[in-house]
Amino acid sequence: MEKTIENSSRDILHDPFDREHLWHPYTSTINPLPTYKVTGADGVRIRLADGRELIDGMSSWWCMIHGYNNPRLNRAAIDQIGKMSHVMFGGLTHEPAIELGKMLLEVAPPSMHNIFYADSGSVAVEVAMKMAVQASISRSGDHAKTNFVTIRSGYHGDTWNAMSVCDPVTGMHGAFGPALPIRYFAPAPTIKPWEEWDSADFEPLEAIIEAHHHELAALILEPMVQGAGGMRFYHPQYLREARRVCDKYGIYLIFDEIATGYWRTGRMFAWEHAGVEPDIMCIGKGLTAGYLTLSAVLTTAEVADTISRGEAGVMMHGPTFMANPLACAIAIESLRMLREQDMPAIVGHLESEIKRLIAPAASVPGVREVRTLGSIGVIEMEEPVNLAEFQRKCVDRGIWVRPFGRNVYFMPPYIISDEDLQYLIEQTIECIR
Ligand code: PMP
Repeated sequence: MEKTIENSSRDILHDPFDREHLWHPYTSTINPLPTYKVTGADGVRIRLADGRELIDGMSSWWCMIHGYNNPRLNRAAIDQIGKMSHVMFGGLTHEPAIELGKMLLEVAPPSMHNIFYADSGSVAVEVAMKMAVQASISRSGDHAKTNFVTIRSGYHGDTWNAMSVCDPVTGMHGAFGPALPIRYFAPAPTIKPWEEWDSADFEPLEAIIEAHHHELAALILEPMVQGAGGMRFYHPQYLREARRVCDKYGIYLIFDEIATGYWRTGRMFAWEHAGVEPDIMCIGKGLTAGYLTLSAVLTTAEVADTISRGEAGVMMHGPTFMANPLACAIAIESLRMLREQDMPAIVGHLESEIKRLIAPAASVPGVREVRTLGSIGVIEMEEPVNLAEFQRKCVDRGIWVRPFGRNVYFMPPYIISDEDLQYLIEQTIECIR
């Protein structure tokens, strides 16, 4: 009898159709990792099909910044659905796109002037790279000046060109081999934001740019935090040097702020740590507070007009769901919520709490390092984590943390209470033990 109950509850939690037919991110069909069925989510809690609740430490991969099922965001979505959930952006425009654009320019780097709405983070990176190529050819008149340089341990998305600038070892270069365009890679920065700057950290990148600027359209970087490529934090001076060298050699600077945006690093956007502006900037993920997929590429009037004076005379991209009104309406409400709150104080408090709570992990056997920036906490292990086993332990303790590689990390929704944060991190450390 007991056995039957156990089996049926397992099927409720680990759906057999899902296991057999649905592909999950980076998952084998022959030996898929277990998935847990979710029936709802509120605030920082994810409800599983067997009734258990998990405290969310991931913000569903950076994006649920205000938590799940937020009444204000729900209202914004419902109000907009009553007007129109979608209309093509070719030849038509609408208030949600206009209002969101105004709000974005208020918080973006001051030199940003033109906004291209896209569908996802990866597509934003594609668009940014296309912008850089079009502008570079138009500016230099040189069709050879179209390649990219970046740093190792980066991650910029899963589409073709985005993949090509992901870390060549931990990214997807192995699986796709010569199918990917060949880019230039400098070593990943090593100086942390709180360490003393050493110009040697930047020299390899400068050397590559000096040697190859004739072929380069742009340098692409995730400012301050390299996310999915290793959860590495680096010094703001690196970004200042990047700006200097890009200007010196006439190449564009792209900041991928898809993960770092909306106060995650302690500033509205991570470029603010360094005070240097990019020529092109990608945002996504938390833009709609996790409700719908929407991204945007922001750029200067110089880049936009240079593209428009170029061969094609237009920006060569135009997705079906460009500026989706429903997504824009939710993004507007989310930005309002951020504006109304004292975000520096909220993230500052989260940062000091995360720092305090993960400190004991540093002395746990197998832990290489712990680090915190803004509301991101990382426990880096000596060896890769056994994901299925770790995840099961976390679920058994009522928390949702999904490590990758050697990194166990948190970036909880900003609304998490001190008690829930403490439980989340203490239980994670117990799982590591
Ligand atoms: N750039 C960065 C820095 C990211 O973290 C991600 C997503 N992890 C992407 C791009 C790609 O975004 P998406 O998954 O929405 O395509």
